[in-house]
Amino acid sequence: MEPILSRNFNVKDAWTLPVAESRGAYQTARKVLTSMKPEDVTAAVVASNLRGLGGAGFPTGKKWQFLPKDSPKPVYLVVNADEGEPGTFKDRYILERDPHQLIEGILISAFAIKSRKAYVYVRGEYAEPYRRLQSALDEAAAKNYLGKNIFGTGFNLEIVAHRGAGAYICGEETALLNSLEGGKGYPRLKPPFPAVVGLFGCPTIINNVETLACVPPILKNGAGWFAGLGSPGNGGTRLFSVSGHVKKPGVYELPMGTPLREIIYAHAGGLRGGRALKAVIPGGISAKILTANEIDVKMDYDSLKAAGTMLGSAGVIVMDDTASIVKALYYAAKFFAHESCGQCSPCREGTGWAYKIVRRIYRGEGSLKDLDTLLALAKNMEGRTICVFADAAAWPIQSYITKFRKEFEEHINNKHEARISKFETISKF
Ligand code: SF4
Repeated sequence: MEPILSRNFNVKDAWTLPVAESRGAYQTARKVLTSMKPEDVTAAVVASNLRGLGGAGFPTGKKWQFLPKDSPKPVYLVVNADEGEPGTFKDRYILERDPHQLIEGILISAFAIKSRKAYVYVRGEYAEPYRRLQSALDEAAAKNYLGKNIFGTGFNLEIVAHRGAGAYICGEETALLNSLEGGKGYPRLKPPFPAVVGLFGCPTIINNVETLACVPPILKNGAGWFAGLGSPGNGGTRLFSVSGHVKKPGVYELPMGTPLREIIYAHAGGLRGGRALKAVIPGGISAKILTANEIDVKMDYDSLKAAGTMLGSAGVIVMDDTASIVKALYYAAKFFAHESCGQCSPCREGTGWAYKIVRRIYRGEGSLKDLDTLLALAKNMEGRTICVFADAAAWPIQSYITKFRKEFEEHINNKHEARISKFETISKF
């Protein structure tokens, strides 16, 4: 398969405008803005089966169609570049290596939804990606690919790059909006959904970096071509971030629906040192874990849902037989306890409580009863909060303990002592 999103990743200086233009950048945007109607662009994105590639997987064109038709308020396009899901580093590649691909995607998408102002909310830790993006925005504006009367069509667009301060929860779309408005990164109750009441109270579409980078190829090659690349209902390709105990960790662009086994063994080179596979997290740390016997699954939203987990951010974390699942859960629980925004009691108290219990187990001071307490706690965190963070914190607890219970019991019964540095604790606990 010819790479689409990653076609320029290894081209020298592809992040600069002259090189990007020599590779075809902005030609599709010119064609779209000068010859198509906004509704036709949206119809093409609907037909392409493009789904939100940040994690939720909601159909992108359908989301655009939720915008009110006759609102007098301005429409905003917000790009979620707050890539914070552990095990995920693919948006970083687009921002750093091919930012003009994203900018062209924003330009076409803003045209489709009739937005004149877009914001890119970049993860605070992404210093170099932010610099490259800002430099690309300046270059595009200087060439009038942004600004007023783009391509002589009368269409205007301003794009602002905004850096976050490093909170995981700001990757949740409504927390991102609050942060962008200058407030605390607290998720909002939905409805109303951002398409109706979003940034500054105005209709807003929020899409992820990878999602918008798919828009120019869809308009260039056709919706049918894009839909045909993936599996039914899951159009196109996906950038899989593969990390952990594989020989060749990295970002791999493959068709949606590529089997997980193929990603690990054919593309990422298999397990380091020829060791045996123990477990895989298929979609970032929030996704439920899969055992070595469960990797004959297609990597698309529907197949992974049917397998009891999720594609999420497509961050594939591979663990060989030297990995400790108890330790993995310790770090997952610690992460979620640290990142909870604290608005909802089941999440604020639940993540902290879970962290303390898992830490006790990990240090060899736990009891078998702790495992059932953790499962009951996780059950009570699900589906009761403002956002899905609490659910995401519950899923590792449930799946790790259910699928690897014997390992937890052995760790507890033998009082395995894991040494935890004082630097590994969270001050609030
Ligand atoms: Fe905040 Fe957690 Fe509630 Fe989400 S679920 S709003 S992160 S406290």
